[in-house]
Amino acid sequence: MELFKIGFITIRIIDILDILIVSFLLYRLFEFVRYTVSSKVIFFILMVYCTWKLVDFMEFHLLSSILSEFWGLGTMAFVILFSPEIRKVLLHFAERFNIQQMFSLFSSQENVKEELLIREIMNFIVDIKKGKEGALLILRGIDPLTEIKSTGVTIDGQCSAQLLTAIFRKQSPLHDGAVIMKEGVIETAHCILPISESKEISPDLGTRHRAALGISEVTDAFSIVVSEERGEISYAYKGKFYRNCAPDIFTEALTNLFRNQEKTLLQSKD
Ligand code: ATP
Ligand code: MG
Repeated sequence: MELFKIGFITIRIIDILDILIVSFLLYRLFEFVRYTVSSKVIFFILMVYCTWKLVDFMEFHLLSSILSEFWGLGTMAFVILFSPEIRKVLLHFAERFNIQQMFSLFSSQENVKEELLIREIMNFIVDIKKGKEGALLILRGIDPLTEIKSTGVTIDGQCSAQLLTAIFRKQSPLHDGAVIMKEGVIETAHCILPISESKEISPDLGTRHRAALGISEVTDAFSIVVSEERGEISYAYKGKFYRNCAPDIFTEALTNLFRNQEKTLLQSKD
């Protein structure tokens, strides 16, 4: 059905829908590759493609044929070099279209799992504060954190307050470093994270807090810190540090994270 005309171009409802769907898909793809394939690589590929199409349109035959060869070889090289990332992208989309997961959206099962997990994390924080110990807990997102996990020790255990407390107790050989979790499973302990060099974080905070912020700057992970010196609960997400949160506010942030309501995350107190 015809909507309106711009010069000699007729715009139909289907065209608007088409543009909206493509924009949404590109946005989701960009959101995803931002944390997996380096954005510089994506930018370079787009530049080569646009230049090729432009010189082709302008009928620069020699340049166009060189770029088309380069594009062919480049595509092969890209597939070989980034095959783990491509697999991740495909798995990610396959998971999004998982029928079982779609049905679980209509049940309260997921919410119950989230609530249990949040309760275990909160109980762990109470325990660790009581023992005047510190902790660094990472809830990873899409990024598998393969490099970082390789610096630690594999646990692969169901998350519970007791297990987390046992790991972070001073007597435990694994208490130093960070624990990495995904969907209620403690994957790795004793991991070394990148340290943030941000000037925004208060200078009275040490390397544990800087490591929490550091990982949130370069990945989509959500990091939780319990300070050994002050007993404060803080978290970092998407390069922002939220210091000394009250337990109810922190619980809300976790709930929002699990429900993907990132926009409602709390204001920084730092
Ligand atoms: P706290 O308030 O708990 O003392 P802090 O920010 O002052 O925290 P530090 O005292 O410098 O931090 O470090 C305490 C612990 O933080 C270390 O013993 C170690 O377990 C952890 N830590 C430090 N750097 C890293 C890192 N890069 N990756 C993971 N864990 C780290
Ligand atoms: Mg310290």
